[in-house]
Amino acid sequence: MSLATKLAEERRARLAAERLLEQKQAELHAANRKLGRHARALSEEINETRAEVATVRNENQQVKLDLSVATQKVAIAERRLWHSIRAIRDGFAVFDADGDMIAANDAWLQVFDGLEDVQPGVSYVQLLQLVTEEGIVDIGDATPADWRRMMMDRWESPSSDPVVLRLWNGVFVRLIAQRGRDGDIVCLALNITDTVRHERILRRARQKAEAANRAKSAFLANMSHEIRTPMNGVVGMTELLSDTDLNEEQRLYVDTIRHSGEALLVIINDVLDYSKIEAEKLELHPEPFDLERCIHEVVMLLQPAARDKGLELAVDYDLFMPTTYTGDPGRLRQVLTNLLGNAVKFTLTGHVLIRCVGLPVGDGTQQRIHITVEDTGIGIAGDKKDLIFGEFQQVEDDHKRKFEGTGLGLAISKRLIALMGGEMWLDSEVGVGSAFGFHVTLPVAGDLPDEVPHLRHGLRRVLVVDDIEVNRTILAKQIETLGATPVVAASGAEALAVLDDRVDLVITDHNMPGMDGMELADAIRDRGSEVPIVLLSSSSGMTENDPARRHLAGVLQRPTPRHELFGLLARIAPPNQDKNAPSAPNAVATVLAAEDNATNRLVLSKMLRGAPIDLHFAENGHEAVEKWQSLRPDLIFMDISMPGMDGTEATREIRRIEAEGSRPRTPIIAVTAHVIEDGSDDFTSVGMDGYIAKPMRRAAVLEAVAQHTPAGRAFQAERAAG
Ligand code: ADP
Repeated sequence: MSLATKLAEERRARLAAERLLEQKQAELHAANRKLGRHARALSEEINETRAEVATVRNENQQVKLDLSVATQKVAIAERRLWHSIRAIRDGFAVFDADGDMIAANDAWLQVFDGLEDVQPGVSYVQLLQLVTEEGIVDIGDATPADWRRMMMDRWESPSSDPVVLRLWNGVFVRLIAQRGRDGDIVCLALNITDTVRHERILRRARQKAEAANRAKSAFLANMSHEIRTPMNGVVGMTELLSDTDLNEEQRLYVDTIRHSGEALLVIINDVLDYSKIEAEKLELHPEPFDLERCIHEVVMLLQPAARDKGLELAVDYDLFMPTTYTGDPGRLRQVLTNLLGNAVKFTLTGHVLIRCVGLPVGDGTQQRIHITVEDTGIGIAGDKKDLIFGEFQQVEDDHKRKFEGTGLGLAISKRLIALMGGEMWLDSEVGVGSAFGFHVTLPVAGDLPDEVPHLRHGLRRVLVVDDIEVNRTILAKQIETLGATPVVAASGAEALAVLDDRVDLVITDHNMPGMDGMELADAIRDRGSEVPIVLLSSSSGMTENDPARRHLAGVLQRPTPRHELFGLLARIAPPNQDKNAPSAPNAVATVLAAEDNATNRLVLSKMLRGAPIDLHFAENGHEAVEKWQSLRPDLIFMDISMPGMDGTEATREIRRIEAEGSRPRTPIIAVTAHVIEDGSDDFTSVGMDGYIAKPMRRAAVLEAVAQHTPAGRAFQAERAAG
């Protein structure tokens, strides 16, 4: 091989080696760069990890810090809680599910008065044992074993009512045990000593107040008696005096004495009733009574006052309503008298109307009765409406008062109605009028009316003549309900204009402006019509001597109870038939009055002058029983307070003799000035048939005689007919 070739080969080899070297160097360089990059990445990762470790360490330290703070707080809270529990006056203890005490506060432990065994770990059973052994609780009449059993039963029951225990040191605790979900039981012993003591003081104070109230009631009862007895003489005597011949001046004096006496009695009665309601002493005395009659009696009572003022009083009693109910007629009459009296008092012109409607309740044996008293008077302003039902409240101020009164009437009425289970309300507009209303639910007594009676066949068209619209409307409604057609006229002239052959009956008012009822009757007959005419009058006595009286088929007092109207209409015969007038019996009623007071005897005998009554007196209970046996009276008025044998004893004696000898029962009416004495008004329980308050009134006495004797009834009917 030539040198040149060799050299060339060597150069080639060198070149190849150099290229290889270059390549290896490049590779090494690349590897170096990669290594460098990796090393950088690694160091970055290390840095991040380091940072994370630092963060975690910090967080760890924070958590540790927080934990220690929380632990401190828990410890503080626990300390405070326990401190508080220890500080409270009430006992507190916790028991585990096995009944072993876990902890208890000082108040709890104090009860055990330092007994060593009473400390955490003691069981409930042991505690009960210690309680009974050491006499820590007053267990009353129970035996220790029974008491422990009772307490264990409570302990084991899932929920038990608190129990009140009296401790040895006079402290009262209310023990409350509450079982938790894990079985632990928390016990609280609340110290209620103050409450118990307070209750005891209150109870004593209440007893004292009740005793004082009873004393007040008794005082009022006695005072009433003391005032009423002389007032009896004053009012009764002035009533008699005014019946004698007096000159004008004397009459004025007598009337003034009487009115003042009566006003004083009204005030006394109001105050007494009110205090009786206040003392919850007022009892209702339900009995069967005729509601319609009761309303008419009140209306009759107020008729003179209304007539003096030119006011019309009207009653609209629902025709479909029964009349007999079971209720307290006396108290209902009192409410009606108050409402109607106010209506008349506060009405200067127009009318006062009592409406009465009834709705059956439940099975129909009871009725919800609505009664309203509407007037066209001065009215009551809206802001005063609630006020006037309060005590001593009157709308007019004292200086300007035109109207008398105590301001107690409505307060009493409202409470009486509430006592009957009803409600009272008022609708009113100043200058237009007022409507006072109430409702009560009462059992129907006696039979329900089968149906409303019908007019006789011949009466189909009835002419109603009245100048007062409300009267026309009521009467027209009644006629319609009775099955006839009403034709209305507001005056005599109008009546004559509409009267024709089709009219079968004329019902006319008496007092009308222009042509009055009697003149209308004359004018009808002058026309040759024989149509029956019925006159309704508020002053029936005035028709007696009028020659036109012969034209009338009947005269009825206004307002007219419906049975009287129906009765008359049923009797009205066709024009040319005879009318049968009722004949009054002439019998005399024998009445015995037991009364110890000479003035009262005189008043009573003068009062009954002119009545068909053979009156005898007894001066005490013994005499009353004797005279009853010899006289056999039809009725006895029995004074309650008499020396020796009083009225109650005499009545018992009479009833006893009657029962022994099976004699007929003599009606006995109690007469008393007492109003709120305990049970004194419950006369029926001693066998009396009724009650009249002193001072006795002629009307009340005659009413009682009429109620119990035929002669009295006949006399009353004669008087009513004028
Ligand atoms: P009083 O004895 O004063 O009549 P009441 O309690 O019966 O007492 O009535 C209270 C007041 O209510 C009356 O003084 C009167 O101002 C007012 N009042 C009652 N009824 C009526 C009425 N029908 N119209 C107008 N005001 C009335």
